[in-house]
Amino acid sequence: MNRSSTHSPRIAIIGSGLAGLTCATALKGFADVQVFEKSVFVGGRLCRYQFGEYRFNYGEQYFTVSNPLFLNLVSAWQSAGIVRPWDGWIVELEKGQLLNLDDKTPRYTGYPHMQVITDSLASNCKVKLSTSIVEIEKMDNGQWRLFDDRGGYQGLYDMVIVATSAHQVGAIAGVLPSISSAAKSIDMTICWGGMFAFERPLELPFDAAFVLNSPISWLSRFRNASAEEDAVESWVVQSSPEWSFKYAASFRGRVMHALLDALFEACDVEPVKTLSANVHCWKHALPINTLDQDCLFDETAALGACGDWCTSPRIEGAVLSGFSMADRIMKFIK
Ligand SMILES: Cc1cc2nc3c(=O)[nH]c(=O)nc-3n(C[C@H](O)[C@H](O)[C@H](O)COP(=O)(O)OP(=O)(O)OC[C@H]3O[C@@H](n4cnc5c(N)ncnc54)[C@H](O)[C@@H]3O)c2cc1C
Repeated sequence: MNRSSTHSPRIAIIGSGLAGLTCATALKGFADVQVFEKSVFVGGRLCRYQFGEYRFNYGEQYFTVSNPLFLNLVSAWQSAGIVRPWDGWIVELEKGQLLNLDDKTPRYTGYPHMQVITDSLASNCKVKLSTSIVEIEKMDNGQWRLFDDRGGYQGLYDMVIVATSAHQVGAIAGVLPSISSAAKSIDMTICWGGMFAFERPLELPFDAAFVLNSPISWLSRFRNASAEEDAVESWVVQSSPEWSFKYAASFRGRVMHALLDALFEACDVEPVKTLSANVHCWKHALPINTLDQDCLFDETAALGACGDWCTSPRIEGAVLSGFSMADRIMKFIK
């Protein structure tokens, strides 16, 4: 990067998950940032599904906070009305037997749904949706040229930050082995998730459960923001990594029935008719290992990478990695 130039550096951020959007937001005023997102919406794994009139926070129902910097941000989100404490009762569950976890960890959730957090961050950024960046090319003058999967040229940038999940970093940043090989060292879990709206409540006393000895490892009641929607009870379930791996290539219908049966069995309740039933397979759900570094940045190449796979496989990890990436860039361009 030419550090003597007087213009604001042009930075491309690939990926509009929490890490990419946090980085882009923190750089506002310091650089001219363009975010590229391959999907039709921002948020990445922080996503919400809508099937007809039924909505689900598909992935995460809540998040925890341990870092003071993240706590400050969460307080700001609370003041802005987009985050609320999550006060659900979590238990451990085995074939209908409840174990009270007595876990007092404060938890938070996006209001009225998780994706509102990334929607809010994106509202302050330049984001180009439906644009999958597949190639970055280093020019003789040190700048980067970006190309999308349709062969389209997406512009010239002083710096590129790859804020995708680890398995995608390797492909995009292949030109820089120090970053691509670090990303390739990360293994990710597979996860089948089920989203079910029931004709009548399952009448369970708890809101969420870690499930033992079942195809399901986690289930939680999804509380909609409006009382009207809440009249219909919805549950989100996630299958265990082992079960998901075994059934990774199975048909959706088969998985859906298996997850529903497992839900009723784990809760020891009679089957209840569904009003809406759907499954989704996350082929790359969560990093199994992480780098134990906040982010990666090569100053000579002006290429960096961030995401939950650098720090910890959680919302907090993605945010802190995005912040750290912005901090490294600001120190570099000063
Ligand atoms: C099923 C599930 C349950 C979870 N539960 C919890 C929970 O309870 N609590 C918690 O704290 N965390 C939870 N997590 C983890 C949390 O969702 C992630 O840690 C966090 O969202 C990761 O953010 P990220 O920005 O690092 O990556 P991502 O959210 O994956 O963002 C990467 C973005 O890059 C985009 N992208 C990829 N390739 C390209 C390309 N070539 N060009 C342009 N864009 C591209 C993707 O579309 C995506 O939007 C869960 C995750 C899953 C999958």
